[in-house]
Amino acid sequence: MDHTKINLLVRLQHLDNQIESIVSLQKGLPEEITALDEDLAFTNRQIESRKKVADDHLKLRQKLHETINECKDKIRSFKEKQTLARNNKEYDALSKQIEYEEKEIAQAEIQLQDIAHAEQRAQEIQQKGRQLITENRYDEISEEMMPDDILQQQLEDLTRQLEQKREELEGIVIETAEDVDSLKKKVAAQRALITKEARRLLDKYDHLRSGTLQNAVVRLNRNACSGCNTRVPTNRHTMIVQGGFYLCESCGRIVVHERLFEEAEL
Ligand SMILES: [Zn+2]
Repeated sequence: MDHTKINLLVRLQHLDNQIESIVSLQKGLPEEITALDEDLAFTNRQIESRKKVADDHLKLRQKLHETINECKDKIRSFKEKQTLARNNKEYDALSKQIEYEEKEIAQAEIQLQDIAHAEQRAQEIQQKGRQLITENRYDEISEEMMPDDILQQQLEDLTRQLEQKREELEGIVIETAEDVDSLKKKVAAQRALITKEARRLLDKYDHLRSGTLQNAVVRLNRNACSGCNTRVPTNRHTMIVQGGFYLCESCGRIVVHERLFEEAEL
C-alpha cells in the first residue's frame, strides 16, 4: 500500500485546520455583526414609519387649516353680499352658500380632531410601553408601544455596538491576513500536488468537506474515529498503525494514525 498518498492528504488537512483555527479567532463576530445589522435595520424602519405618519399628519393638518380659512373668507364675503341683497331670493341663495361653507368647516374640524385623537392614542400606547419597561416586562411590549425616545436610544446603541464589532473584526482580519494568505498558498500547492498523485483521495476529502464538516481526515483516538467516536474494527488497527487509512463506517471520515498528523506539522 502506498502510504505517501495519505500523507499528502493529512498535510492538506493540517493546513486547512490551521486556517480554520485562525478563522475561529473571529469568535462568531461575523454572525454577531449580521444580527446587529438586522436589528438596526428593523429599528430604522420603525423610526422611519413613525416619521412618515407624523409628516402625513402635519401636511393634512396644514391643508385642513387652509380649507377652514378659505371657507371663512368665503362666508365673510357672502355675508357682505347679503347686506346688499336686493331681494329674498338673492339673500336665501347666499344663505345656502354660507351653510355649505359651514359644513365644509365642520368636516375639516372633525378630521383635525381625528388626527389629534390618533396622536393621543399613540402617545398613550407608548406610555403603556414605558410602564412595561420599568417593570421589566419586555416580552409584552409591542412595536408601537416602544416610546420614541427609547427607540432613538436603541438606534444609537445599535449603531455604536455595530461599529465596535466591525472594528474588532477588522483588527483580527488585518492581524491574521498575512498568515491566512500564506496558508492559502500552501493549500493551493498541496492540492495541486494531490491532484496529480491521489486524485480520488482529494475528491473524497472535498466531498466530505462540502457541507459544514471541516475535519475530513481525523486521528484514531482510543481505537475510535475521533470525528464521531465510533469504534474502529480491531482488524483495521494494524493497517492504521502502519500508516494506512480507514474510512469510518459511521461518518465516512478518513481515519489515520496520530503520528501522521505529527509528521504533517514538520
Ligand atoms: Zn467516524
